[in-house]
Amino acid sequence: MKTDVLVIGSGCSGLYCALNLPKDRNITIVTKSDAESSDSFLAQGGMCMMKNEADYNSYFEDTMKAGHYENDRTSVDIMIRSSQDVVRDLIGYGVEFQREKDGAFAFTREGAHSDKRILFHEDVTGKEITSKLLAQAKASAHIRIMEYTTVVDIISEENTCYGAVIRKADGTLEKVAADYTVFATGGIGGLYRHSTNFRHVTGDALAIACKNHIALKDINYVQIHPTTLYSPKEEDRSFLISESLRGEGAKLYDKNMNRFVNELLPRDVLANTIFKQMAKDETPYVWEDLRPIPEAELWSHFPNIVAYCREMGYDVTQECIPVVPAQHYFMGGIEVNHQSRTSMAQLYAVGETACNGVHGRNRLASNSLLESLVFAKRAALDMTADYAQAKRCAEAFQIVSEEQYLDEEKLAEEYKRLVCEKIEEADLAGKRKDACMIR
Ligand SMILES: Cc1cc2nc3c(=O)[nH]c(=O)nc-3n(C[C@H](O)[C@H](O)[C@H](O)COP(=O)(O)OP(=O)(O)OC[C@H]3O[C@@H](n4cnc5c(N)ncnc54)[C@H](O)[C@@H]3O)c2cc1C
Repeated sequence: MKTDVLVIGSGCSGLYCALNLPKDRNITIVTKSDAESSDSFLAQGGMCMMKNEADYNSYFEDTMKAGHYENDRTSVDIMIRSSQDVVRDLIGYGVEFQREKDGAFAFTREGAHSDKRILFHEDVTGKEITSKLLAQAKASAHIRIMEYTTVVDIISEENTCYGAVIRKADGTLEKVAADYTVFATGGIGGLYRHSTNFRHVTGDALAIACKNHIALKDINYVQIHPTTLYSPKEEDRSFLISESLRGEGAKLYDKNMNRFVNELLPRDVLANTIFKQMAKDETPYVWEDLRPIPEAELWSHFPNIVAYCREMGYDVTQECIPVVPAQHYFMGGIEVNHQSRTSMAQLYAVGETACNGVHGRNRLASNSLLESLVFAKRAALDMTADYAQAKRCAEAFQIVSEEQYLDEEKLAEEYKRLVCEKIEEADLAGKRKDACMIR
């Protein structure tokens, strides 16, 4: 099979990248599950936008501070300065954000933000954005979406990427020739026992990168979300109790129903404090109280959380809910420059699987949808500008034997081992250790 551009993943970064490529190119998006099963659909809280020029400095500082000042300053600047452009594009695709009575954007606030600057759509912002992008992609004649299709490796020679090997919905393998290939495969949550991510999002691009000697960065920078609804069933995907709730006044209590922490601390600090409290109390969770938030606001701003908790047997207007930290976001990834180019020619990486250093050591809440979109568009524009330079190489396809990919389970194990080993290596090198997470 031949396509001009192969995009791997149908989350917000893959879709937006595809939509920003020229319409005279044929683009193939392959996605491991159905097109809607991406973490982008799960984003609840919202998406940051620089409100106005006066907001720049504090937004920049909040992002840097949350990232422990390890952020790439240029990436942060690009993200913030591109935010209004991305929001304009999204509105053009039909995305609706909450508005005030006068039609101005309504902004909310989350942990570690010094001001309200987060756009939202009820508590399903990611679904609102990604479903509109997906609809647009489906309506575009030059974009083809192949569901239940997994990339098992790339095809490269002399550090240039010429396409990938895919496992199709019927289980057969096929080589895909592409002038450009884009990893948009999301995070690594599927490697963890407790994660808010979809179980099939397992960091495949990172394993493929390791195998093909593509540079990685900050591979052990993993964010833990401090508050997910506790479930005794370990196979459950952890349900997120949005940070915005704490921004709006929800409180955290120990086993004796006493407050033990400032609920608006950065995520990593808060998660560690909760773990310490759980150890002290010898409990598998702490309590979160949503009752300080007026009931009408709970229903209008957080209807899905209220409904989900109710389904699980908790009436949040009357009682506290048990919450526990879980793996949530991956700041590290495949190292990319400010145009989202990887260390291999003709191969880009965007979204959560990429690392342009924007988040540093810890992501500021609601920066990831924005970062995914900003740098996905930059990848598309860079490919477009560079298109005439793309090389093709038929020989690269002849050398690849499909034999090595036949055993699906063995390959998944091997890829998991590759990524976990890299994370452990980085932990041992002493850059950071997340004591609480079990892979
Ligand atoms: C519960 C939850 C709530 C969140 N809330 C927010 C929020 O409020 N604000 C915010 O900014 N961010 C939030 N985030 C983070 C944000 O949603 C993600 O960082 C962002 O959506 C990542 O987008 P992506 O396109 O990189 O990846 P994803 O949306 O995860 O998409 C990855 C895609 O790659 C596909 N894929 C994976 N491996 C392969 C393979 N080998 N072959 C083919 N396809 C493959 C998957 O099927 C999927 O389609 C939240 C995340 C979660 C889990």
